[in-house]
Amino acid sequence: MNLPFVDLKAQYESIRHEIDDAIDAVIGETAFIGGPFVAEFEKSFAEFCGVRHCVGVGNGTDALYIALKTLNVGPGDEVITAANSFIATSEAISLTGARVVFCDIDPQTYNIDATMIEAKISDKTRAIVPVHLFGQPADMDRILDLAKRHDIRVVEDAAQAVGATYRGRPAGSIGDVGCFSFYPGKNLGAYGDGGAIVTNDEDFARRARMFANHGRVAKYDHMVEGVNSRLDGLQAAILSVKLRHLPAWTNARRKAAEQYRTYLASTDVIPPTEMPEVEHVYHLYVVRVPAGIRDNLREQLGEDGVSTGVHYPIALPNLPAYRYLGHGERDFAHSTKASHEILSLPMFPELTEDQITYVCDRVNARVAALAQDEK
Ligand SMILES: *Cc1c(COP(=O)(O)O)cnc(C)c1O
Repeated sequence: MNLPFVDLKAQYESIRHEIDDAIDAVIGETAFIGGPFVAEFEKSFAEFCGVRHCVGVGNGTDALYIALKTLNVGPGDEVITAANSFIATSEAISLTGARVVFCDIDPQTYNIDATMIEAKISDKTRAIVPVHLFGQPADMDRILDLAKRHDIRVVEDAAQAVGATYRGRPAGSIGDVGCFSFYPGKNLGAYGDGGAIVTNDEDFARRARMFANHGRVAKYDHMVEGVNSRLDGLQAAILSVKLRHLPAWTNARRKAAEQYRTYLASTDVIPPTEMPEVEHVYHLYVVRVPAGIRDNLREQLGEDGVSTGVHYPIALPNLPAYRYLGHGERDFAHSTKASHEILSLPMFPELTEDQITYVCDRVNARVAALAQDEK
C-alpha cells in the first residue's frame, strides 16, 4: 500500500464540478481582486467562525502580521508565543519590529503552557499569540484571564484549527482577533495562498482591511502606508465551495483520529490527547514515540509506503534564526524533548479505515522491533 501524507487530489475529485463551476464564474466576471466572490466568502467565513467581521488577506503569515500591526504592535514591544509552532507565527511578530518572547509547551497537548506565561510578561508585553497547534485550541480561559489582568491583547493563530471549538466557541473567535491560513494543505485549503483575519471589533476590521490594501480609504487616497495582501477572487470562490464541505471533512478527520486511537496498540506509541473542553479538528495526527527510535521508524514506515511528517523537528528557539535570543535547549525542555519524539501520521478526510489499519499495523510492528533492538 502506498499512502501519501495528505491527498489533495482525492478531495478535488470529490467536488470537481462545484470547483470548476466556481472558477468559471470568477473568470466569467473577471472578479479577480476584491469583488463579489471575496465579499461572499468573507461573509460566510465570519458566520462560520461566529464573529461579525472577516478580512480576507494574502496568506496566514500576513494575517498575523496585519493583525499585530493593526493593534499597533511595533519596536520596543514584546509578544509572547509558543516555542513549538511553524516559524510563520514568530516571524509575523518580528516583522512588526517587536521582540518575540517564547514560552514552553504543555507536553500533553503540545500547546503553549499557559501556566508559564505570566513569568514571561513584562511592562513591554503587548500581546500573546497562542497557537492552536495541530487543530486543538490552546488553554484559552487561562490566557484570557492573564490578558485581562495585564491589559494585553490576544491574537489567536488558528491557522491549523479552522472549525475547532473551545468550550463551544469557534477557534479564532475567542481572543481579540483570530488569524487563519488557507494554504492548500490546511483543513480549509485554497488552490494557492490565502488567509483571513476575524474579529467582532468593527473599527479593528476596518483598519486591518485598510492596512492590507495599501492603507487605502479610496482609490488613490491612502491614510497610511500599508501592504498589498488580499485574498483573490479565484481563491475566495474555491474557499466558498470548500467551506460548505468543511463540517463533513472535520467529522471524517475526527473519525479517522478515533480509529487511529483504537488500532494503535503499541504501548510505546502515545496518541494525541484531546482535552475535554475542546473539539480538536486534527489538522495533524501527532503521536509520540521514544526519541531513540523516531527517525528509524520514519524511515521504515517510508519503506512500508507510509508517508509521515515531523511538526516540528526543531523547536523555534533552537533554530539558527533565533540564535540571537541566546537561548539554550534547556530553556524550552518540553518543546525540545517533543521535537525528538513526535511523529505525524497520514491525516486527511478521505482516509479509509483499511488505510488506517494498515498504518497502525506497520507502526505497531516497527515500533515493537525497534524497541527490542534498543534493549
Ligand atoms: C500555516 C501556518 C501559518 C502560516 O500560514 P501561511 O498561509 O502559510 O502564511 C501560521 N501559523 C501556523 C501555526 C501555521 O500552521
